[in-house]
Amino acid sequence: MRYRRLPDMYDVLPFPPDRDPWLHAARWRYVETVFSEVCRRFGYREIRTPVLEPTELFVRNIGEATDIVSKEMFTFTDQGNRSVTLKPEGTAPAARACIEHNLFTAHPQLKLYYIGQNFRYEHGQKGRYRQHQQLGVEAFGAADPAMDAEVIALAMTFYEQLGITGQQLRINSVGTPQTRPAYREALRDYVRPFLAQLSPEGQKRFERNPLRMLDTKDENDLRLLANAPRLVDYLDPESREHFETLQRYLTRMGIPFQVDHRLVRGFDYYTHTVFEITSDRLGAQNALGGGGRYDHLVQDCGGPSVPGIGFGLGMERCLIALHELGIALPVPDESPFVFLITLGDPTVVRPLAVQILADLRRAGFPADMDYRSHRFPAQVKRADELGARYTLILGDTEATQGVIQLRDQSTKEQRAVALDALIPTLRTLA
Ligand code: AMP
Repeated sequence: MRYRRLPDMYDVLPFPPDRDPWLHAARWRYVETVFSEVCRRFGYREIRTPVLEPTELFVRNIGEATDIVSKEMFTFTDQGNRSVTLKPEGTAPAARACIEHNLFTAHPQLKLYYIGQNFRYEHGQKGRYRQHQQLGVEAFGAADPAMDAEVIALAMTFYEQLGITGQQLRINSVGTPQTRPAYREALRDYVRPFLAQLSPEGQKRFERNPLRMLDTKDENDLRLLANAPRLVDYLDPESREHFETLQRYLTRMGIPFQVDHRLVRGFDYYTHTVFEITSDRLGAQNALGGGGRYDHLVQDCGGPSVPGIGFGLGMERCLIALHELGIALPVPDESPFVFLITLGDPTVVRPLAVQILADLRRAGFPADMDYRSHRFPAQVKRADELGARYTLILGDTEATQGVIQLRDQSTKEQRAVALDALIPTLRTLA
């Protein structure tokens, strides 16, 4: 019996696989480090929340009519008879945790980041996985569009730092829960005469969640919607002012953007600003990441009235874009600095080698040896395969004389070093 991973899941491997070299753990770590450093530069602190949350948290806040809640959640009943859900997004859990730990009292402006796993039961599209990782931030407490601009600037700085170019930022405003019903009806009125010509998905959305009709890739739907009323024309003066100020700030920051009147995104909790960053390197699933403002979410989760804005960037999409752009990441060298090789009587040299290896590691050197073979050529081959910088060769003679042969693997130079001088000598070479 051989087991395989579940559909639309992936493994991240210790060596770059031939087919998808981006599924290489060292690259993931590098990108995560860049993201954490950019977040720290912008004054964001890390939060980690559980992968399981009460189902209600998502149903109520993401919205029952959204794709995520209506068909994509991994929900089950646990042994305590609770309905629990593997988190499909990071914002509602972050809000839940901040309320639960009373963080808003001491920190009226609270800026958080996370690197977390999301679970959505997706249906076999390229670039869509059932477990995917998001790099996210949530900035709570300020309703000022300067906060929107900061959050967007953080995402753009992150991509810039990685060397990703050619991505597009699109922004829109979805207004407020007060202004949206009027727009929703205007949109329905516009579509009603040719509803029968709309795709089946479009027709479903017409009933359940009309704004989502705009978020389509169907060519015919796009043609039918070309002259649809625009959200921006239904904004109240305050929302419009917010949107215009954000655009002024982005311009001042030198961040190019496009206003996209069809951008609505898949969560009901958004208010005012929504944005998405796309890359033409990704094919059909071209969204690198996106986010938006959610001024009522904290209150809807049972907390105080605290506005917020955040984003989630797809880790897989980011790594695929880096790969497509041919950007080689400076991933840290995982080869051993020294590799110990023994020859001669194993009962004499092996115990000493094991002790030296422990001392080297305690002193901080990446050091290794071959436990499988005592044959000299096999051990040398292993050292080469692992790309060791130095080998240390310990034979019977060396063991009795208290020395070891130190060999530079690139120059092939070799010299004997007294065992008690080994660590200081290696320090001069590191
Ligand atoms: P969302 O939380 O839906 O706004 O998604 C934010 C970003 O996460 C998207 O722009 C994608 O880059 C990424 N993403 C969302 N869902 C998936 C998925 N199923 N597989 C891979 N990446 C995803």
